[in-house]
Amino acid sequence: SKPVRLSVHLHPYGEGRNLLLSRDITALEQAEAMRRDFVANVSHEIRTPLTVLAGFVETLQTLPLDESERQSYLNLMSQQASRMQSLVNDLLTLSRLEGSPAPSGSDLVDMVQLLQQCKQEAHNLSSLVWGKPQDIQFLVSDAVAVTGSPSELHSAVFNLIGNAIRYTPADKSIRVHWHKTAEGEGELSVQDTGPGIAPEHIPRLTERFYRVDRSRSRDTGGTGLGLAIVKHVAQRHGAELLIESIPGRGSTFTLRFRAARVRPQ
Ligand code: ADP
Repeated sequence: SKPVRLSVHLHPYGEGRNLLLSRDITALEQAEAMRRDFVANVSHEIRTPLTVLAGFVETLQTLPLDESERQSYLNLMSQQASRMQSLVNDLLTLSRLEGSPAPSGSDLVDMVQLLQQCKQEAHNLSSLVWGKPQDIQFLVSDAVAVTGSPSELHSAVFNLIGNAIRYTPADKSIRVHWHKTAEGEGELSVQDTGPGIAPEHIPRLTERFYRVDRSRSRDTGGTGLGLAIVKHVAQRHGAELLIESIPGRGSTFTLRFRAARVRPQ
């Protein structure tokens, strides 16, 4: 069993007697430690691109450069600025998810339309990351909708698709599948043929800033917050996030919505 930390206070109360007050502060201390870690992580994530950016500014100010050199420095600077933008956007998304009540179950999210939009965006992202679009198949087996927030669900689904694109080599394929199970649940799965993930990493993937390979994630524009966002959205929609992976073969990320949230479209 876990050790329990108690804060103990002696309170004098009347006629020389003392009252012993104790409180379990384990959870409080853990929350505080997590908050400190998070602030340290965010600072580090911002400092790295900022340092690089400041270095390029200095280069532009001090070195005599020809036009093409100047352009390539400006491109590198723009990449660092985009990196900071993505980070701040993901941080805002996370804080909104943590600080607002779960979406009401009254809005119906048209998954067919959502996936159509994702298909276009996947094509664009894939071309941007790999210089040409990957083979990404979208298979919508059942025209069922789910109740919840369209923007949150879009963000969760596209984070999974975005990861599949970024971690799967250009010539390998990706499959996105939406269907209703025999039990009436709605299942969205994103299956890739990328490097896969070793089992020991899987339980930690949804932690903020947890990455299996830091440099690879950053190179492809990852903030380290994507799966934390997916996990939050899933929780807020009473959905499960399942992660299956075979190292060397690929990974499948599945969002499973309870039957009570699935409606005919
Ligand atoms: P990141 O921005 O780094 O991709 P995520 O929270 O989306 O952050 O993912 C956390 C980590 O999980 C990634 O850094 C990567 O190591 C691993 N990961 C996520 N999706 C995949 C995938 N489809 N294939 C292989 N590894 C993945």
